[in-house]
Amino acid sequence: MIVAIANQKGGVGKTTTAVNLASALALRGKQTLLIDLDPQANSTLAYVGRESLERSLYDTMADESCALSQVICESTQKGLWVAPSRISLAKLEARLVGELDAHFRLKDRIDPVLERFSHVVIDCPPALGLLTVNALVAATHILIPIQSSYFALEGTDDLLETIERVRARANPSLQLLGVLVTMHDKRTSLARDIREQIADVFGAKVFNTVISKSVRLEESPAYRESIFSFAPNSTGAADYYSLCEEVMARV
Ligand code: ATP
Ligand code: MG
Repeated sequence: MIVAIANQKGGVGKTTTAVNLASALALRGKQTLLIDLDPQANSTLAYVGRESLERSLYDTMADESCALSQVICESTQKGLWVAPSRISLAKLEARLVGELDAHFRLKDRIDPVLERFSHVVIDCPPALGLLTVNALVAATHILIPIQSSYFALEGTDDLLETIERVRARANPSLQLLGVLVTMHDKRTSLARDIREQIADVFGAKVFNTVISKSVRLEESPAYRESIFSFAPNSTGAADYYSLCEEVMARV
């Protein structure tokens, strides 16, 4: 399974989901690769110190002579590996102008490492540009996090249209794995309404697991840990463990 965590809306929980789903898969004994496609490098820094980064995805995506295996590094967790990002990734789009294979770079680089990893999780940037399209071309599945907030569904039409375009031109077998409601506050009636609205649009694709608002989830990246080592008994850990179970049941 290669799952892209995508939504062009900023701050909806993509990185938090990518980091903790990848960690949960590794805890379940899956050899897992977390690919950070966001120049903000938030998911990289959740596991790898800035000082230990020599190369990043930019190097392999811009230069054919650099294999993905040369940029992958160990995380702080057993069974979990990271393909790190750096701010330089923001230059990739300009670098690849006019290259015929610009949309296929990530897919081409991932193929040779698939014998090492049974599960690949890709954290996408908050945009529908070249980087996210590379993720959708390379992925077998897409997981869409949607923040439980008043404007939750704004922009999902554009995202679904992009998925359709990628399916039509480059990756017909791309499947919507599911839609995940994040930062949910079950005490409020607004949050309940929003969840119903999301269910009206996406039906059975909405995961039964809902990620509650949790301070622990917000804090864990600063300690360079997943929620499972930082606060194993928190609701955040229980929520992401439950998501992992559902994901594994769906693929
Ligand atoms: P971007 O679009 O900038 O990449 P994102 O979609 O990756 O953002 P995150 O970085 O995962 O979103 O989350 C945005 C902010 O919300 C972060 O500060 C994160 O710690 C916090 N956050 C994420 N999930 C939760 C949660 N369930 N409860 C509380 N805070 C959360
Ligand atoms: Mg992010």
